[in-house]
Amino acid sequence: AREALAQSQKVEAIGQLTGGIAHDFNNLLTAILGSLTLVRKRVGDDAKVLSLLDNAIHGAERGSALVKRMLAFARRQELSLVAVDLPELVRGMKDLMQTSIGPMITIDMRFAPDLEPVRSDRHQLESALVNLVVNARDAMPNGGMVTISGLAEEIRENHRTRLKPGRYVCLSVADTGAGMDKATLLKAAEPFFTTKGIGKGTGLGLPMIQGLAEQSGGRLVLESELGRGTTARIWLPSALASQDVVAAASGPTPEPSP
Ligand code: ADP
Repeated sequence: AREALAQSQKVEAIGQLTGGIAHDFNNLLTAILGSLTLVRKRVGDDAKVLSLLDNAIHGAERGSALVKRMLAFARRQELSLVAVDLPELVRGMKDLMQTSIGPMITIDMRFAPDLEPVRSDRHQLESALVNLVVNARDAMPNGGMVTISGLAEEIRENHRTRLKPGRYVCLSVADTGAGMDKATLLKAAEPFFTTKGIGKGTGLGLPMIQGLAEQSGGRLVLESELGRGTTARIWLPSALASQDVVAAASGPTPEPSP
């Protein structure tokens, strides 16, 4: 079951990343293909050149077909931004998370009472949480503690997170693991960056979470100290602050803003 879960997360992460890349790449290939076709018309009857051009055109066509399949796949990953009750979501995932990280790691949950809902994608948030606790597990081979907490905060101008001013909820996942040195921390959220070795890490977990946070109107902020542990903070806009939010069917309806 854990394998299947990891697999579905990989698929989801790839979907999120491909969306943006595939779109630009498709435009690029269209330009290449157009130019090659024009050149082919003017090249005369040099068989060698024609055959090389045909190879190039054929390659670009195959690339274009591939990119279109990627786009079709990525479209399915579009976010549906709804009001999500974080404590409810996280508590509902406790057993699944505990199974994913094993018995040597204790999960502690601390949510502010009456924490307001956030505006984000429920399904992707679940996936993000599993990714974060699995990263925490990998950083704590001898066991330890994962603290998942949620707190609302009013963000003002020039806040260190560089968030737009407004009301946010910070969902944080902190571990007592190995931590990262400065160089690793800087690269951690880059696509395909992994220190876990081939076949183990994909390097897509944190970029996916960063994408989710930013598309929700928030940010992912990582903090880490070698030998002490890592804290990942996902800042998400409060659902109370946005008018266009659709109340999640399973969550409570947010109260209207004052
Ligand atoms: P993956 O887990 O597949 O390597 P991620 O994007 O989730 O991909 O993480 C990238 C890298 O960031 C990891 O390989 C690891 O080096 C580092 N990292 C992420 N989370 C933690 C953590 N909680 N503790 C220490 N290092 C971490």
